[in-house]
Amino acid sequence: MTDNNKATLSHDDIRNFVPKSDCLLGKTILVTGAGDGIGRVAALTYASFGATVLLLGRTSSKLEYVYDEIESLGGAQPAMLPMNLESATFAEMQQLEHMIHKEVGALDGLLHNAGILGSLTPLEMYDVNTFAEVMKVNLTATFMLTQAMLPRLKDAPNGSIVFTSSAVGTNPRAFWGAYALSKQAVEGMSDIFTQETKNTTNLRFNCINPGATRTNMRAHAYPGENPLSLKTPEDIMAGYVCLMSDDSIGVRGQVVALQPKD
Ligand code: NAP
Repeated sequence: MTDNNKATLSHDDIRNFVPKSDCLLGKTILVTGAGDGIGRVAALTYASFGATVLLLGRTSSKLEYVYDEIESLGGAQPAMLPMNLESATFAEMQQLEHMIHKEVGALDGLLHNAGILGSLTPLEMYDVNTFAEVMKVNLTATFMLTQAMLPRLKDAPNGSIVFTSSAVGTNPRAFWGAYALSKQAVEGMSDIFTQETKNTTNLRFNCINPGATRTNMRAHAYPGENPLSLKTPEDIMAGYVCLMSDDSIGVRGQVVALQPKD
């Protein structure tokens, strides 16, 4: 293990990172929710910087589209991993880990991006089934997939796991219910994993809070908002690339807000 416990980049450095064109060459990165929104653009961006991308999502047709987009930009051949994180079992995730070990070999990065909003409702009236669904997709499945993939990621020379938080996870906000709670717990999970592993492995855990970004989820949360006033997923990719590249070795246990004024 190399000495990589010291944070070497500030959050500004991460937000403003200027990647070298081959900074992800030779890395294999699994992206959840890769079929749409921020996850789709992260998958395309990782491929454009040389990574082999494993596309996990629940809608096969969307994964096929992203697969074709990566092929047409000349990226390394990706793989599609259709999985519904709401219903997936731990055994299925372990099978996925075995398959990656056998068919792909290494796994260097895992971007936990898939998420659902649930409803914007006071907790007193929050539908308990919706609550469970949001917790399963945003938190429990994130934990399960992390644990299932740990053997592969710990084998990587400098593995990186990136979770996705939100401003309402960092500072819980009225009416954001299960979504805010799930994101707060994801930040806690990243912190606990960091504490438990920082002295025994090079694998690093961090969270990204993308900030207000022009996607379907944002449009559902803020239907009256002009989407053109928002950054696009492409605008915020520097931080996503930085935390997957070896330039961020030493950055651990951080919650990086990519648009800190939100
Ligand atoms: P999005 O456009 O709604 O995309 C979400 C992605 O997650 C989609 O690819 C979706 O697949 C996938 N997904 C949802 N449920 C799934 C399930 N059960 N199994 C597998 N995949 C599933 O959302 P986004 O705005 O890009 O959000 C990406 C992440 O950033 C989320 O974690 C979100 O909480 C976070 N975030 C977003 C913003 C923002 O302003 N956009 C702000 C803060 C945090 P389908 O397309 O097949 O449904």
